[in-house]
Amino acid sequence: MPVLVMKFGGTSVANPDRIRRAAKRVGVEVAKGYDVIVIVSAMSGKTNELVGWVNETSPLYDAREYDAVVSSGENVTAGLMALTLQEMDIPARSWQGWQVPVKTTSAHASARIEDIPPANIEAKFAEGMRVAVVAGFQGISPEGRITTLGRGGSDTTAVAFAAAFKAERCDIYTDVDGVYTTDPRISSKARKLDKIAFEEMLELASLGAKVLQTRSVELAMRYKVKLRVLSSFEEQSDDAGTLVCDEEEVMENRPVSGIAYSRDEAKMTLLSVADRPGIAAAIFGPLSEAGINVDMIIQNIAEDGRTDMTFSCPVDQVKRAEKAMENAKESGEINYHNLVADTDVAKVSAVGIGMRSQSGVAATMFKTLSDEGINIKVIATSEIKISVLIDRKYMELAVQALHDAFELEKQA
Ligand code: ADP
Ligand code: ASP
Ligand code: MG
Repeated sequence: MPVLVMKFGGTSVANPDRIRRAAKRVGVEVAKGYDVIVIVSAMSGKTNELVGWVNETSPLYDAREYDAVVSSGENVTAGLMALTLQEMDIPARSWQGWQVPVKTTSAHASARIEDIPPANIEAKFAEGMRVAVVAGFQGISPEGRITTLGRGGSDTTAVAFAAAFKAERCDIYTDVDGVYTTDPRISSKARKLDKIAFEEMLELASLGAKVLQTRSVELAMRYKVKLRVLSSFEEQSDDAGTLVCDEEEVMENRPVSGIAYSRDEAKMTLLSVADRPGIAAAIFGPLSEAGINVDMIIQNIAEDGRTDMTFSCPVDQVKRAEKAMENAKESGEINYHNLVADTDVAKVSAVGIGMRSQSGVAATMFKTLSDEGINIKVIATSEIKISVLIDRKYMELAVQALHDAFELEKQA
């Protein structure tokens, strides 16, 4: 029988009632003749609560124990979903990541899926089981420890299963009815897209649009998984939601197709480091070893052989970054006067594959922000995106102003 993957996010499994609603959607697909793999997230808010407990207990925690704790939310919803389906007389059982097994790297808290042998689940399908409910977000390392895939990782679990089982489609059920030109919670003018190109979705996701985890889009692109985002709260037709697909299938042609933001950024500046060959390596090597996701980097103009180095990273990594720099200073690898952390910044980005061929996007973006009196602290560009770091208090204003400036509420 053809296989379908259906993933339900946190708000879609927030309580037993919502789980019943999701299970009914699964029932519809089972009735159509699909064997279904259901991937569930933890109940909404649960993972945040678990992360909070870990931080409270141990701020510079052992990531293996972090994973042991934060993976537990999905175990609960997987079991409850299987029970709900059984109550509906649909043969179902739950699987934790290690039982499948979902084999991952040992990069705890941000592990990558390496392999999902389908044999165990396929054997159950062959015996008449119709739904395999799998706990998202988690796997097992070569050392036999539980791993997690980074926040939002259940999306990646879903796409990886779709690839491993050659599923007909991977449906991501969430609390919005598709991918929008920007987060519909920030701009009421956000417009739902029927289709979006993999590359644009990849860029939007990596710049903060959390509707899909970045890695899930990468996998879908690589393994040609038919990926759809849709609402678990509405009756669904076969063409509901947003299809993430190849560039050629998308009709719209405009320089910018979406605005993304990332609220929890920090800007770190090392004051007065020696301006010498190898200084960047001496700074960013230890940061990388400490697992810091450095994003934007600027090296300022040097004076008297000293310079300032600025970089951005997620705000929850500031403590680790400071520690890594202090250690590097103590061991004599680098020398700096002071490390200043600005933890009140956010990143706003304009994304579009049309930028490759159309110029003027940066100019429009900077003019729009300047008209709103918003100061730009750092700029980064690539072929299909422009990002700026600004004070967090202006983030929503910036998103709305840019959405207006690029006329994204209108169909191109
Ligand atoms: P889930 O719990 O189902 O995984 P998430 O909260 O991870 O859901 O992702 C869905 C959320 O992503 C939406 O509620 C929305 O606020 C946010 N979002 C951000 N950018 C976008 C966008 N461009 N289109 C749709 N949703 C977006
Ligand atoms: N529960 C995890 C998180 O909140 C994984 C997910 O929901 O995708 O990040
Ligand atoms: Mg999510």
